[in-house]
Amino acid sequence: ATATRALFMLFGATGDLAKRKLYPSIFNLFKKGYIDNDHFALIGTGRREWSDDTFRGVVMDSINDSADSDEQAQSFASHFYYMSHDVTKPEHYDALSDYANKLDAQYEINGNRIFYISMAPNFFGTVAKNLKVHNCLSDNGGFNRLIIEKPFGRDYDSAEELNNALGKSFNEDQVYRIDHYLGKEMVQNILALRFGNPLVEGIWNNKYIDNVQVTLSEKLGVEERAGYYDGAGALRDMIQNHTMQMLSILAMEQPISFRDVDVRREKIRALRSMHIYTPDEARENFVRGQYGSNGDQKDYRHEDNVPNDSTTETYVAGKVEFNNQRWANVPFYIRTGKMLTDKFTRIDIVFKKPLIDIFAAADNSESQLNNNVLTLFVDPVNKVVLHLNGKKAGQGMEMKPLDLTHVQNDEEKAATPEPYERLIHDAILGNATNFASWDEVSRAWEFADVIRHVWDTDQPDFPNYTPGSMGPKAADDLLSRDGRAWVFNS
Ligand code: NAD
Repeated sequence: ATATRALFMLFGATGDLAKRKLYPSIFNLFKKGYIDNDHFALIGTGRREWSDDTFRGVVMDSINDSADSDEQAQSFASHFYYMSHDVTKPEHYDALSDYANKLDAQYEINGNRIFYISMAPNFFGTVAKNLKVHNCLSDNGGFNRLIIEKPFGRDYDSAEELNNALGKSFNEDQVYRIDHYLGKEMVQNILALRFGNPLVEGIWNNKYIDNVQVTLSEKLGVEERAGYYDGAGALRDMIQNHTMQMLSILAMEQPISFRDVDVRREKIRALRSMHIYTPDEARENFVRGQYGSNGDQKDYRHEDNVPNDSTTETYVAGKVEFNNQRWANVPFYIRTGKMLTDKFTRIDIVFKKPLIDIFAAADNSESQLNNNVLTLFVDPVNKVVLHLNGKKAGQGMEMKPLDLTHVQNDEEKAATPEPYERLIHDAILGNATNFASWDEVSRAWEFADVIRHVWDTDQPDFPNYTPGSMGPKAADDLLSRDGRAWVFNS
């Protein structure tokens, strides 16, 4: 492993995400030697008045499970420094800049800086601006990179405004927009499966593929996130970002190399060929839902912090079309929702049936052939299943399903980093492949905004699905009117 020298400046160091994901991830990178153990420091900031010791205690608590020893945890935590800092007070950044220079010199970090904004999105622009104005960026040849949390805007206009604000301090190639789905093993595996296998890539087009289905299903309701969620809805929370990212990887052409610029170029081209609906098309091709009650489970409108006349959607299903040679006439059906049957993410690639079924033709019986389906299980287990047709053992020629399955084994599982660990590592290496570029984010907003606008205009008929189901009936109708059905439906 090449170890990189780095000074982290983390905004939101007392927050939930930092404790649950960021410290454990940075610790794993430290343990594996991806961060130079002698030349690394982290300045954590938050509004609270914490001492370094308090901060280090919190950090040690958060990595408790994965430390080999107390000394190791302590040695890691000794690199953490806390500064109480109000991000809205410009003068506070001068102290931060001085502290960064001091630690940079002390640990001989050579000016490599990673700024991580893990705060409410309304602060993203302010922090980025002040970092530059108050000289928190290094200027001695090291790198300056900004990792920024989601959500990136709430529509095209607000995203553009945010992006312009970031652009005053950081160039696009210094901005790493987190979409943790891009850090998932199976999402990255799509590239390997497609471009490493002529067998797969050769049939990855409208001659062989009938339709593609992407499902991001959650079993739980809004939990404690209702305050945020009710102002956002499933379209913004799951479709505009994660689902669009997965679609672009599924639909893209082969990049000329695996470098970030080349991969992103093709993802952007795919998203540009995605058809942006007119309002009427959006009404026809997108379905929204909100969960009702089923006795034990309260309906969405009676969850804590949700207004009892809320029109926020907790479910979205839709049909997406790519206007290009590869995908003409191949619908991509997407869906996501809360309170569904189970928690999982899966991609079903549904292939066409043979044009002629010689087995049925023999005795004029009905065809027993199923569509071949390649299913990529993204969560909770990494699994690939290829559903084929085979022969039932015995006399004659009766058909039966034949499944080829690859499941990630324990060794592979242990070698699979958490998305945040992988993404922070990529940012340290300067590899932006698995981060969302502005062109991708903005195109996805253009797509989502039309639907959002229609839904903000039309009155929904909510609630319209039962907790523990796979969503409203309209989501099934969306496919059945095309003569199709969801592969997973129980
Ligand atoms: P949080 O509310 O737990 O933490 C917010 C942090 O911001 C705290 O450290 C607080 O001190 C700091 N802060 C707030 N106002 C400040 C000010 N004026 N000056 C300085 N510091 C201030 O939030 P979180 O759950 O950790 O989320 C952080 C970011 O990560 C958000 O953008 C969120 O959307 C995103 N995110 C969180 C999760 C999660 O699981 N928590 C998941 C995905 C994305």
